[in-house]
Amino acid sequence: MIDLKNLTIKKAHKSLKEGEYTVTELVTMYLDVIKEKNKDLNAYLEIYDDVLNQAKNAEEMFKNGEDTLLTGIPIALKDNILFDGHISSAGSKILENYKAVYDSFVVEKLKKQGVVFLGRTNMDEFAMGSSTETSAYGVTRNPYDLTRVPGGSSGGSAAALASEMALASLGTETCGSVRQPASFCGLVGLRTTYGSVSRSGIIAMGSSLDQVGPMGKNVEDVEILFEALNGFDKKDSTSIPEEKRNDFILKEKSFKKKIAIPRDFLKGEGIDKEVLKNFEESCEKLRNAGYELIDVTLPLLKYSLAVYYIVMPAEVSSNLARYDGIRYGLQVDGDKLYDVYAKSRGKGFGKEARRRILLGTYILSHGYHDAYYNKALKVRKEIKEELFNLFNDFDAFITPTVPFPPFKLGERLNDPVAMYLSDIFSAPANLADIPSISIPSGRTEGGLPLGIQFTAPFLREDILFTIGKDFEKLV
Ligand code: GLN
Repeated sequence: MIDLKNLTIKKAHKSLKEGEYTVTELVTMYLDVIKEKNKDLNAYLEIYDDVLNQAKNAEEMFKNGEDTLLTGIPIALKDNILFDGHISSAGSKILENYKAVYDSFVVEKLKKQGVVFLGRTNMDEFAMGSSTETSAYGVTRNPYDLTRVPGGSSGGSAAALASEMALASLGTETCGSVRQPASFCGLVGLRTTYGSVSRSGIIAMGSSLDQVGPMGKNVEDVEILFEALNGFDKKDSTSIPEEKRNDFILKEKSFKKKIAIPRDFLKGEGIDKEVLKNFEESCEKLRNAGYELIDVTLPLLKYSLAVYYIVMPAEVSSNLARYDGIRYGLQVDGDKLYDVYAKSRGKGFGKEARRRILLGTYILSHGYHDAYYNKALKVRKEIKEELFNLFNDFDAFITPTVPFPPFKLGERLNDPVAMYLSDIFSAPANLADIPSISIPSGRTEGGLPLGIQFTAPFLREDILFTIGKDFEKLV
């Protein structure tokens, strides 16, 4: 028996390398757990039918000495990441039977290293939500408490990993969708620098905000995955060229052990008492470990969520225009072309997707474009500058990942504003294109996972890994 609970990428690699067990044996153990647990959790929407073939390929790589740390590692894929020949539905009815016709950049990179993709995981429809309840394929449950949500939108990827149904997983972030579910399921989750990992083959939500991000049981696993995914791709026009990355990183390589606490940003209503207490304790632990933590005032951060909820729906409305009932997915017949559009979209999209398309269309419409969209872009730029200046003096800033612990199924679903508050601490990183990580920071009295979040300058994931590994030892 393999101890899946304590397994990490490096441990699995060592055992596979030394022949303690084969990739097929490892993968079969995960498949057995999936058989047992997935019916209660609904973390996976599908287990790929070629898993054992993938395992055999990985075994060949070991035999030929072509293995890397990731060869044979069983990973879960969010349902909006294209994997050639397999369905990617983005949690939506409108793409129910849509089969990818090419590999996303991230899948292509991991495939080359012999990663085994176990299956595709449930998500909020088109990644819109914080609970995985807006999926067209039923809710996913939190492995720590089946009456609660796993977070979202990458809730399936988090629940699968937290319940030993995968060794690591991939999610995507537009605003918090990796970090928030990681926090709700006791995992490490990384939002990567915008442009660091290619968006090619990711079903788009908000193109100026979307990024793929890894989840792992510890910081090291997330770092290994990030290193594998990070890199220039000519198929993504916003991918950062290699020369620019190197210049930037060499010039900026500094580490002061100084972390800012945006005090005014933490004063808002709606922050749970246990979350605040855990946050203060986490800060204290870091101080005891030799970090300097200093209160700062960042007056613009509090506008982040409002700005996000203008920019994102605007981009959603234009990205989702392609689902017209003709080019992709579900088609409902109608007498006129307009009826085909209206009926297909009406039937194919759920309530939250429709809400955001309507909001976005309104925001971009003549007469409102300047008042909402352009104004939000201006504030976004100012938030970016505020953080850029902060990083002259600090390595990172710290907040809780989410203002409350995992909530009950149904508790926020009919109150969009309450749901959107999940993203309050996530939004600054996405708006400013910078990396941010959520690390488990303990539990509530009732045993629910809590997370702490660090956000660092552009392309400085290395800072997050250093602080994260230090923090991990203190919890
Ligand atoms: N909670 C965010 C939203 O509803 C999640 C977006 C994301 O990161 N995909 O928009």
